[in-house]
Amino acid sequence: MDRRSFLKIGAAGTAAASLGMMTSFSPDPRKDETAKTRLDVKDYVREPARRIPVVDSADLVVLGGGPAGVAAAISAARQGVDVILLEREYYLGGLWTGCCVLPVNNISGRLKSGGWGQVVYGFSEEICRRLTEMGYCIVTGASPVPDPEAAKYVMELMLGEAGVRLLYNCQGAGVIPSGDRIDAVLVESKSGRVAIKAKAVVDCSGDGDILEWAGEDFELRKAHVGAMWRCGNAADFKRRGAHKTPIDSVKLFHTNGEFDQDGLDIYNQTRLQLKMRKHIWETLEKDRQLPGGERLFVLDSTTLLGVRVTRVLNSVRNVTYADSVRYATYPDCIGIGGADPTLKYSGGTLPGKERPVWQVPYSAITPKRVRNLLVAGRCFGFDKDLTYDAREVGTCFLTGQAAGTAAALSLLDRCSVQEVNIPRLQKCLAGGGVRFDM
Ligand SMILES: Cc1cc2nc3c(=O)[nH]c(=O)nc-3n(C[C@H](O)[C@H](O)[C@H](O)COP(=O)(O)OP(=O)(O)OC[C@H]3O[C@@H](n4cnc5c(N)ncnc54)[C@H](O)[C@@H]3O)c2cc1C
Repeated sequence: MDRRSFLKIGAAGTAAASLGMMTSFSPDPRKDETAKTRLDVKDYVREPARRIPVVDSADLVVLGGGPAGVAAAISAARQGVDVILLEREYYLGGLWTGCCVLPVNNISGRLKSGGWGQVVYGFSEEICRRLTEMGYCIVTGASPVPDPEAAKYVMELMLGEAGVRLLYNCQGAGVIPSGDRIDAVLVESKSGRVAIKAKAVVDCSGDGDILEWAGEDFELRKAHVGAMWRCGNAADFKRRGAHKTPIDSVKLFHTNGEFDQDGLDIYNQTRLQLKMRKHIWETLEKDRQLPGGERLFVLDSTTLLGVRVTRVLNSVRNVTYADSVRYATYPDCIGIGGADPTLKYSGGTLPGKERPVWQVPYSAITPKRVRNLLVAGRCFGFDKDLTYDAREVGTCFLTGQAAGTAAALSLLDRCSVQEVNIPRLQKCLAGGGVRFDM
């Protein structure tokens, strides 16, 4: 291959956020026009009522073991409450580890005091430092990039140390309401359909599953669905879009995928997952033609589909893009969010270096109606224009830490989540390493 062909393939491959470049799908000439790709309900069946065994109970049930759920469960347990974390997969980290979206973005931004600096500390800093000390986390740009297998292991260690009770293979399937509270979470599992009683619940499912089941107010959004994957034997492979990882011989790759997608439609999800894998293998074939790529192999592809946003809470007060770019302050601030390096919003693109840091208010993770539910991660309450900032891993750690701590305080103080004592919450968060200065 000559240099011109090499550059052509490299350039075709890309344009990436923090990752420097991304690939998008090319039209598929073999597309099967007859395949069903949209969920289309034409009929209903009625499920007979049945008794569900109650197999456990806890002060707090956290649904979903992604970045937000792990931070929430550990932070709550550290306040002394009994926590069960339910996860449908057999590993922790959600998209962070299961979709290889490794760079912990949005921990820095343009400071009000001038210059560029880190603002997200607390749980995010703690876990990245621990991975760094083990030799499994590097920093590229402003973002820590861990090894996903090490991250899965460290999260299990940290949950164990905090005394969180973890249950894998538990697909949350509904809630049992009691007035304006949730009384139990229903779970589908290999043990059958079971119920777990909870005094409080944090929805960290990413898709806001509990919002729907509990009848809470939310908005269903579409976004692009993409993928990331890792290749081995990549030490000498250097095209743009091949990103460093903590392991020298392993590189990280990314595709934007398809825009404006319904991430909850199982037919569409299946179509996209098939397309992602095809894209990964076709990209591999091209990359193997490039210098240094001859022995590349796919080390892992996504075990979770790269769904960015679906249900988003209509919270007591959603964070707005307008507020976030003018250093707005809230009395119930739970931490400072950082900047996505290529923030896109309706009006255009704001260069990362100009993106101000922004306060996250407690009211944005607080539902309007249900009294014992908080929401963290990519489904808390934020403007559509904030999609690039509000759902990145750094912000998920931040909202998870705040939601877990606040849920614990509501239990200890015997009040609703809407009545949590904000100065006490802020003091606890500061004790957990969260910084509030912009
Ligand atoms: C292609 C792509 C690239 C990205 N790149 C980056 C990047 O470079 N840097 C960055 O910081 N962010 C990136 N992001 C965003 C980031 O990965 C996610 O927004 C973040 O992981 C969300 O964390 P979360 O905990 O809210 O949800 P998730 O990571 O989605 O975790 C949710 C967890 O809940 C579990 N779960 C879901 N429903 C149920 C249920 N009903 N019952 C039981 N368990 C359930 C899931 O299995 C999962 O473990 C990217 C996202 C995508 C899709």
